[in-house]
Amino acid sequence: METRRCKICAAGARPLWDEKFKISYFYCSRCQYIFIDEKKIVSPEKEIALYKQHNNTLENEGYVKMFEAFIRKTIFPYQERIKRILDFGCGPGPVLAELLRRRGFEVDVYDPYFYPERIFEQKRYDLITATEVFEHLKEPLETTRMLRDHLNPCGILAVMTLFHPGEAGAFNTWWYRHDPTHISFFQPQTFKALADRLGFRVLMFDSKNLCLLEKAGS
Ligand SMILES: [Zn+2]
Repeated sequence: METRRCKICAAGARPLWDEKFKISYFYCSRCQYIFIDEKKIVSPEKEIALYKQHNNTLENEGYVKMFEAFIRKTIFPYQERIKRILDFGCGPGPVLAELLRRRGFEVDVYDPYFYPERIFEQKRYDLITATEVFEHLKEPLETTRMLRDHLNPCGILAVMTLFHPGEAGAFNTWWYRHDPTHISFFQPQTFKALADRLGFRVLMFDSKNLCLLEKAGS
């Protein structure tokens, strides 16, 4: 099977074939990025129908707890430099935005399906959050570049997406990839490659699902 060019670092990405689901992915051994074969990307109609099945509201205790933890790790250490926030890809019920507003931040939301007004177009932010968004991105380099352009100098991009377990057998049995809307998979090294290409520095990452990138100063 043919190789592809890695969408993040442009190195050669070799195919990973999933016999059970008849899907091929491509794996870059340089930056660890894994992306699905374009032919298997679901249509926007199907994608929106799948998102509507989620119960992501303020009444969902687990969901709120997840965001409380996210806020503690990503915002508390930097809160003195954060005033204006964009929650990019907020989904149907902008829970994170509401939790942030309660703490006194100014928050805009955008979601291509649920809040499609491009409210960020003429604005720049101190922090952009993208939680459970990057695994849905078809062109993560382009999207990250666009987000960078809407950050102030030294602004922070906070990404939450579950890091993949490596390209060997573990990837094939990994539950996270069985959601058909999940098409892009990362590791901290992938974010390092993104950061290098786009003029960010990696501010922090954890071992599970979190990465903070800081845009260069002016
Ligand atoms: Zn790569």
